[in-house]
Amino acid sequence: MSYYVAPLARLIEEFEKMPGIGHKTAQRLAFHVLSLSPSAIANLIDAIQGAKSRMTYCSVCQNLTDINPCAVCSSEKRDAGTICVVENPRDVIAMEKTREYNGVYHVLHGAISPMEGIGPEDIRIKELLNRVKDGNVKEVIMATDPNIEGEATAMYISKLLKPLGIKVTRIAHGIPIGGDLEYADEVTITKAIEGRREI
Ligand SMILES: [Zn+2]
Repeated sequence: MSYYVAPLARLIEEFEKMPGIGHKTAQRLAFHVLSLSPSAIANLIDAIQGAKSRMTYCSVCQNLTDINPCAVCSSEKRDAGTICVVENPRDVIAMEKTREYNGVYHVLHGAISPMEGIGPEDIRIKELLNRVKDGNVKEVIMATDPNIEGEATAMYISKLLKPLGIKVTRIAHGIPIGGDLEYADEVTITKAIEGRREI
């Protein structure tokens, strides 16, 4: 049983599927959409479709990008000898906001989690190993989240990289244990990078 007529109920349902959106917010968004002009609706649809169709993954760092390789990987100002490994594209944005980091990135798209059935082959570790094989990488900074999955992933990767003679460091715990890198403020992230230690 629904208080809403079918098209409105469907719109609310779609909004409710989005992360962090509860029923009340979904309802507000749906009524907002209904109040928009046809051209504003067309704009919104175009923005969604454009983001989906023009965004791809960088063949080097695996981050989301609209050009391949991405702007960071193709920049001559960035130090390609230092790779910062993060779990998701939002972490790259958090790191870039600090303006302190001048190396490049590698986005794993997840972390190893036996509880959720996510193994090393399910995240982009193979791509990282292929990247470091050319011998030009001097340091890999493990900036996965400071929770069980992030720590396990950092340890797993460091064990693969060490025999290749690559310095592997872990960001310092200015980031709260159990926390998410993407929610940390710029000063905390900067301090965490400065205080990284070899693992
Ligand atoms: Zn890239």
